Amino acid sequence: MKYDFLVIGSGISGATVAERLASSGKKVLVIDAKSHVGGNCYDFRDPNGICVHQYGTHIFHTNDKTVWDYLSRFTQWHPYTHKVLAQIDGALIPIPFNLNSIRQVFPPTMATRLEEKLVDEFGFGARTTILELRQKSDPDLKLLGDYVYEKVFLHYTLKQWGMKPEELDPAVTARVPIFVSRDDRYFHDKYQAIPREGYTAMIQKMLDHPNIELKLNTPFSAIRDTIPPEMPIYSTGSIDEFFDYSFGILPYRSVRFDFVEYAQEFFQPVACVNYPCNYDFTRIGEYKHFLNDKSDKTVISFEYSSAFELGQNERCYPISHPQNAELYNRYRDEAQKKFPNVHFLGRLGDYKYYDMDKAVARALALTEGKSA
Ligand code: UDP
Repeated sequence: MKYDFLVIGSGISGATVAERLASSGKKVLVIDAKSHVGGNCYDFRDPNGICVHQYGTHIFHTNDKTVWDYLSRFTQWHPYTHKVLAQIDGALIPIPFNLNSIRQVFPPTMATRLEEKLVDEFGFGARTTILELRQKSDPDLKLLGDYVYEKVFLHYTLKQWGMKPEELDPAVTARVPIFVSRDDRYFHDKYQAIPREGYTAMIQKMLDHPNIELKLNTPFSAIRDTIPPEMPIYSTGSIDEFFDYSFGILPYRSVRFDFVEYAQEFFQPVACVNYPCNYDFTRIGEYKHFLNDKSDKTVISFEYSSAFELGQNERCYPISHPQNAELYNRYRDEAQKKFPNVHFLGRLGDYKYYDMDKAVARALALTEGKSA
């Protein structure tokens, strides 16, 4: 096949771009360095019939109907509402921290006072952030802010990022707000679900197009010399890799998942339990909750965060920091000057902490009108 486009990476961003181009009649080569499609969304059925997410729990959630409708062409959905508990002083408490969490951790009179103060200050149904709450001068709200900071955010964030919450881009901790309501859901988006046959099956279906050729186990470096210099490329790989790290390595956080099978039906009541203060792992995921898989066994994963090290582990989270943005922009400027035919996208290509829906929206926007 003679190709019109090269797409580097078969994760959710690469698959969206490839599908859009292919459906508009273009011939597309998709390469992936890994032995499977799906990037970090990859999942598989284990011998017990449990759909395991190899790179940790992935929950699709969006308010973007365009993205929802687009992905719905490639999968049916299993409606799933994500709820997270955190082990705090030995009890399992709803996260994001909310009025129910307050009831569980404080004595009743104190809880009532805190609830009233929160409702007066922010209004029922409002959301705030840990950084905002801690700035309140009211002694009760301050006490609450300090409690949630210490018990939920500080040690988790130190484990996850190697930084204190106040040292991080505020947008990161704001992903997990504090709710002035009794809503225990982790996400409040209109659409929340898991692909019924899993993410891998959905992405395979996106790539299953006569105009797409897929080559796995194929890093860009292996085929670079065979690609005509003017060929349009959509790269979802890390931008520093495209340039052989000539300006330095972009930092990421990585996660190691230690999978363990238990001969019991369930390990924990929900798919995700966070351990902000205890242990060295951040959280435990239990996979059978997502698709309601039936088995007398269960599979869980312990998540250990660390710095990304080239060739040693996977890139999982870009680290939003001015110094890293500067390095990223240096690469991007170089790309625009020397390789105007190469577009970068995705969590790694854009170096942005995208959720899956944002990655798809970005891929759709980038290919809109370009492919016809
Ligand atoms: N976070 C925390 N304690 C928690 C949950 C989250 O401190 O119990 C902070 C932490 O810094 C984390 C960030 O909030 O990295 C975003 O959490 P989220 O659950 O969105 O992370 P993801 O699921 O993307 O790893």
